[in-house]
Amino acid sequence: MSTYELTPRARAVLAGKDQIRRFACDVHGAHRIETPVDGYQVLTRTELDDPVAGIRAAVLARSIAAAEIRCYAEQARAGGRSWDEIGEAIGLEEAGAERGELAFGLVVENRPLPFHPPFELISAWWRCGSCGERVRDRGPFEANPANTESGHASSCRRHAAEIAAYRMRAEA
Ligand SMILES: [Zn+2]
Repeated sequence: MSTYELTPRARAVLAGKDQIRRFACDVHGAHRIETPVDGYQVLTRTELDDPVAGIRAAVLARSIAAAEIRCYAEQARAGGRSWDEIGEAIGLEEAGAERGELAFGLVVENRPLPFHPPFELISAWWRCGSCGERVRDRGPFEANPANTESGHASSCRRHAAEIAAYRMRAEA
C-alpha cells in the first residue's frame, strides 16, 4: 500500500498510532510484532505483544492531547479568538452561544459544565495579546466581558473594544 494515496489527515492518523506504539515500547516495555494480514503473502499489520501496554500508552497520548488543547485554547484566547471559535475547532456543532460554553467546559474541566459554574473555581488563564497582562477568563457564560475577564490593564484596547461591542449589542 502506498502512502502517497492517503490524505494528509489519514497519514496523520497513522503517524499518531505509530507514536502510541512507540510510547508502549519505550515507556511500558512492550515490543512490536508483525502479524500477517489474512489472505496476503507480504502484507503485515504492526501490533504490540502486550495490548495492556498499548492502553497505557494511548491514555498517555490522551492526557498529552488534553493538555495541548488547553494550552492552544489559552493561546487562542490570548490572541483575541472567541470561545465559540475554539468550540468550532474542537469539532462542536454550532448551537448559538452554547458552543462557546461547552468548549470552555471541555477545555478547562474536560467535561461540559452546568450553565452557571462557580466562577471563582473554574478559569482559564492567558496573557492578553493587547495589554500584556495576565487575564483570568471565567468562560463565556455572561455576555458582558467586564464580568467574565479580569486582569486586563485599565488602558487595554481589546478589552475596551469588546465591552463597547457588548454594549452596542445590548442596546440594539
Ligand atoms: Zn488586555
